[in-house]
Amino acid sequence: MNIKKLVKPNIRKLKAYHAAEVPCKIKLDANESPYGLKVLGSVMTNRYPDPEAKELRSLAAKDLGVNPENILHGNGSDELIYCLIAAFGGPVLFPVPTFSMYGIIAQSLDQEYTGIPLDNRFDIDMKPFEAALRKLKPRLTFLSSPNNPTGNSFSSVRIEKIIQKSKGIVVVDEAYQPFSERKSFIPLLKKYDNLVILRTLSKVGLAGLRTGFMIAGTEINEEVNKVRLPFNLNSLSQKVAVDALKKNTDLKKFITAITDERKNLMAEMKKIRGIRPYPTDANFILFHARDASSLHARLLKQGVLIRDMTGALPDCLRVTVGTSAENKAFLKALSNSL
Ligand SMILES: *Cc1c(COP(=O)(O)O)cnc(C)c1O
Repeated sequence: MNIKKLVKPNIRKLKAYHAAEVPCKIKLDANESPYGLKVLGSVMTNRYPDPEAKELRSLAAKDLGVNPENILHGNGSDELIYCLIAAFGGPVLFPVPTFSMYGIIAQSLDQEYTGIPLDNRFDIDMKPFEAALRKLKPRLTFLSSPNNPTGNSFSSVRIEKIIQKSKGIVVVDEAYQPFSERKSFIPLLKKYDNLVILRTLSKVGLAGLRTGFMIAGTEINEEVNKVRLPFNLNSLSQKVAVDALKKNTDLKKFITAITDERKNLMAEMKKIRGIRPYPTDANFILFHARDASSLHARLLKQGVLIRDMTGALPDCLRVTVGTSAENKAFLKALSNSL
């Protein structure tokens, strides 16, 4: 695919900002203060962060089985969605309901976007979706799999068909992939030059760091990198993320704890009459309930806050998997309210 031609003309002409790093003894080039605090063991707060996040990207690359050149770091994957739309522009296509930021960012960047309703099993509805690919010729297609807020993964065959049929970039947002038993689409990057994968550390225990990754071919990365602000990921986040990835047994333990708890929570929710939980590959469960909005309010009165999804999905609520004690409190409040 001709990536250069897909990029907006103004971006095509743009050169990436390059913060040159010259080794030196006395560094007086960047208007930093000589005085700063030493935090997290070694981070000096007076210095700008590494604009290329080299250590973090190389660790993430090892983790994900790609090369560092294939990784772009974001202030959360939200920022990378922003950069993608800023670089390629619309039309933007995605199934709905899905992660709301695709539409919000497209709108804020004044780009056209279209949502195609999911089928009755919350999978991509291929006929209208393929029709939209032909008719709208989207420059960007976003597929969140597992999907937020429905929780299911889309059919891999359908996703791959969309990658093949699209004349633009297809972004598979794998924010919840660590909780899923399905295979990542990362290996398919070798096969499809219009494929982009998004990952984030947010859902696996590091949301406060705002750290996400885009994985793509170097040509796409170079274009998107032009619109990324040079110091987008601060040095504290870089340091904590590096430490976390170095001993990622902690993160693995978190993920296992969540998937174990998800199993218990699902089993208990299935026993409750009056609600219907949907299958999930993510760290949350979408469920159907009569009078969902009022149920949501009754839970909150008992101190339990979940997400009211009735704006997007009639009679549906979404609960995040918490600790065993939190899930028990939720289940108790739920029985009290039904
Ligand atoms: C939460 C979420 C994100 C955003 O993640 P950040 O890295 O925290 O910005 C991206 N995509 C989906 C589908 C999400 O649910």
